[in-house]
Amino acid sequence: MLNISSDFDHGNIDCLDVSDPANIRLAIKKDGLAAFYQWFYFRVDGAAGQPLAMVIENASGASYVDGWNNYRAAASYDGEDWFRVDTTYDGKALTIRHTPDKDEIFYAYFAAYPTTRYRAFVEQMKSLSLLQHEVVGETLDGQTIDYFRAGDGPKQFWVIARQHPGETMGSWWMEGFLPMLADENDAAARRLRENATVHVVPCMNLDGARRGHLRTNAAGQDLNRAWRYASMEKSPEVYLVRERMRASGVDFFLDVHGDEAIPNNFLDQTEGAPSWNDEMAAAFERFSSLLLKKSRDFQTRDGYPQDKPGEANLDIANNYVADVWGCLSMTLEMPFKDANVNPDPVRGWSPERCRNFAREHLEVMAEIVR
Ligand SMILES: [Zn+2]
Repeated sequence: MLNISSDFDHGNIDCLDVSDPANIRLAIKKDGLAAFYQWFYFRVDGAAGQPLAMVIENASGASYVDGWNNYRAAASYDGEDWFRVDTTYDGKALTIRHTPDKDEIFYAYFAAYPTTRYRAFVEQMKSLSLLQHEVVGETLDGQTIDYFRAGDGPKQFWVIARQHPGETMGSWWMEGFLPMLADENDAAARRLRENATVHVVPCMNLDGARRGHLRTNAAGQDLNRAWRYASMEKSPEVYLVRERMRASGVDFFLDVHGDEAIPNNFLDQTEGAPSWNDEMAAAFERFSSLLLKKSRDFQTRDGYPQDKPGEANLDIANNYVADVWGCLSMTLEMPFKDANVNPDPVRGWSPERCRNFAREHLEVMAEIVR
């Protein structure tokens, strides 16, 4: 008997009608108190060998409709290996067509990263001797916000991910970054730890993740629009991390995200911040060109349009940090679709590629640290 469910950690789908496997009618739920929606993650049971057409009927009202063009949904039998399946968008509905081999299968907007997996990862990282772990406080739903620190060098490097809970590539990226940062034998990690104190918040928006949100926390707040006026009532995640940054100072900031529409990896700089200067521009150019040399997955042609001088939105983390601390401050965007510069027809942009890309970032950080 075919069954669809999403009433679990990180799940999101409204099941309208499953009576016809060739026209399973679905809708994505909005982010609780906010109108955003695009993240979906659900389980199909009892459909082995059966051709399925899963129609997301409210796709055209999603937050980033350009994200559906040339998009293929992710599927997995075990939550570990995610592959892409045939998906079409007709301007109204998004239709996912697949014949599962097994009775239990998951479909998601991108390789899912539930908070259960996050907790297991945090426990592993806590066991590594070169990582110091602290809890910075609690989310509105009462989840602990974890912070890790490595190294004791004079430069203060900050790396955070997953302000937007549907952008799970940030968590997969962290699975590459943190273990390498704690590796005693890795030369790049050692150099980074000697020259910098590296502060890492692997998951900013745990409530949004557990609730199956695309973009906001339990209060309906987009955390990456909360940096200037963060509060314990609406955005404790940002408020508490910002306090830590004020205590340490910031010399380098990287905020890891995913972009729905653009089919490539790119870095967004802070040229619209009022404090922007030639030194910050040169630091960005250096980081970007070193990453371009190192990584087959990076490119610099596609990206966001530049802000006009002084017109950056300072509620966004990278602009806020650039303005307050006058340092190299960047947002990394990875694709939901695939990176056109080095495509993978089977998996698209994938967990393994996120992990690898993170290690390349760490190597570049080690090059620019002194
Ligand atoms: Zn984002």
